[in-house]
Amino acid sequence: MRIDLHTHSTASDGTDSPAELVRNAAAAGLDVVALTDHDTTRGHAEAIAALRELSTGLTLVTGAELSCRIDGVSMHMLAYLFDPAEPELLAERELVRDDRVPRAKAMIAKLNGLGVPVTWEQVARIAGDGSVGRPHIATALVELGVVPTVSDAFTADWLADGARAHVGKHETDPFEAIRLVKAAGGVTVFAHPGAAKRGHTVPESSIAELAAAGLDGIEIDHMDHDAATRDRLRGLAADVGLLTTGSSDYHGSRKTCVLGEYTTDPEVYGEITRRATGAFPVPGAGGHRA
Ligand code: AMP
Ligand code: FE
Ligand code: FE
Ligand code: ZN
Repeated sequence: MRIDLHTHSTASDGTDSPAELVRNAAAAGLDVVALTDHDTTRGHAEAIAALRELSTGLTLVTGAELSCRIDGVSMHMLAYLFDPAEPELLAERELVRDDRVPRAKAMIAKLNGLGVPVTWEQVARIAGDGSVGRPHIATALVELGVVPTVSDAFTADWLADGARAHVGKHETDPFEAIRLVKAAGGVTVFAHPGAAKRGHTVPESSIAELAAAGLDGIEIDHMDHDAATRDRLRGLAADVGLLTTGSSDYHGSRKTCVLGEYTTDPEVYGEITRRATGAFPVPGAGGHRA
């Protein structure tokens, strides 16, 4: 079984539509794929519809990646199989997502101040109806020839945390996120907790506190973690009783990773599905293996 529990579509900052993502996941030979767009479930319906057209046994796990902040450090919380209609979590997702628009406009204003002629119209065209984020602005910077690739925009010169053109956004307290996701029947996994190249990371003591507050797992096998980081995180997970996952964090052509680049153990996947009560994995039309 090949299980990839973290991907993005055009509903946020990926470049595959939700339907393309599902088809590409099947073509990549995955058995299970989770759709985890930033702060939105908007892609779920299209992904489910596409899954029903497939002749393979791909199973879809619905989810989202929630933008959080703890002690001033931004972090991402994967949430799986929650009820997307649960009003409190829905309201929090909307709050974060809606704040992304004025925040993107503020970053564009800073870039204009730095002499970069990027416009909101350009960024809005790139983002389409997806939840707008820095990768869309980074794509605009690539179009304008300011940087060669999207990841080259995530530096102190441009869009990295605290960089010249960076502006923060509303982010949820992770203890609140855990509470909200649980109340909506979902399961939480702290995404790429050791991704140091993205900025400050959350200390192990805080991860232990999140575990005590009901965090279900941490993502370990991820492109942004080196071998030493994975070993350290595996030790922590064993100490504090967290599930451990792996994923591609696929963003289509906006990042270099490929679907199924890292995967999650079937037993861990089974435990996630047993804990979830807000939604169920959606089996593809071709019969289900998961
Ligand atoms: P935002 O949610 O708008 O603050 O943007 C965060 C997103 O930017 C992440 O989900 C990644 O997709 C992307 N990102 C963050 N750091 C980097 C990086 N160093 N290189 C490439 N993409 C990054
Ligand atoms: Fe992203
Ligand atoms: Fe993330
Ligand atoms: Zn992600």
